[in-house]
Order: sequence, then C-alpha cells, then structure tokens
Amino acid sequence: MRKPKSMSELVYHTRRKDEFGTVRVWVFKENCTECGKVKMGKPVNPKTGKVKSRSKEYVCSECDHSVEKEAYEDSLTASIEYTCPEGHSGEIEIPFERRKLTIKNLNTGKNKRKPGVSFNCKTCDFEIKVVKLK
Ligand SMILES: [Zn+2]
Ligand SMILES: [Zn+2]
Repeated sequence: MRKPKSMSELVYHTRRKDEFGTVRVWVFKENCTECGKVKMGKPVNPKTGKVKSRSKEYVCSECDHSVEKEAYEDSLTASIEYTCPEGHSGEIEIPFERRKLTIKNLNTGKNKRKPGVSFNCKTCDFEIKVVKLK
C-alpha cells in the first residue's frame, strides 16, 4: 500500500485508538479529472500566496476545474492500517465516502449517528468505524 512521504500529499490524515482498536487513515490528493496534469488542491489567495484551507472547493491550478469539497473527497480513496480489538492487524483501501454510522456512547449507552467510514477486520469480520472525519 502506498505510504505518504509528506502531509502535503494528503487531503486527510488521522491516527486514533478507541473501542474499535487502533486505526491510521490517510487520503491522497488525486489528479484533476479534467486535465490530469496536477493534483487538485484548495485555492490559493493570489495576493498572499497562501492556501485557503477553509475553502469549500478544490481547484486545479492548470485548468481551473473546480469541484465542491464533499464531492471531491468522496471520490478519493482512504488507505487504512488497523489493529482490531482482537489484535488482528491489517491494511485496507476503501472509498473515502462518509456515511452516517451508529455509534454507541460508552459512557451513556446511547446511540448516536455520526458521519464516518467503516470496514470489517479481514480476520474476524469485526466492524471498525472511524467517525468524525473532519
Ligand atoms: Zn485540471
Ligand atoms: Zn479482527
């Protein structure tokens, strides 16, 4: 599986340890679907040269093609390294498409719906949920 060399290659990265085990998730930026020349990125302010990190869209610096943030991120692939609560380690690649997941609050016992991605441990089939992705 492709590993990131620097954070600038990524749209998203997280490491966490919770009731679903230990999970590391990273999502690579991908090339513009229109011209294929460069990776899509957040727009740059032409005056300051700084990236507008809160922008709601991604743009191509070559052809000006733009995609709404959610739609662009949903089209990407999440690379995941995990160790499930049973101790099985594995790697998996899944679409970075966030769905509403039901999460039980371990303190209150109440279920909540939160956006995230989920996948199953390849060894024991335990469903690992990664929520609050941004
Ligand atoms: Zn382009
Ligand atoms: Zn497992």
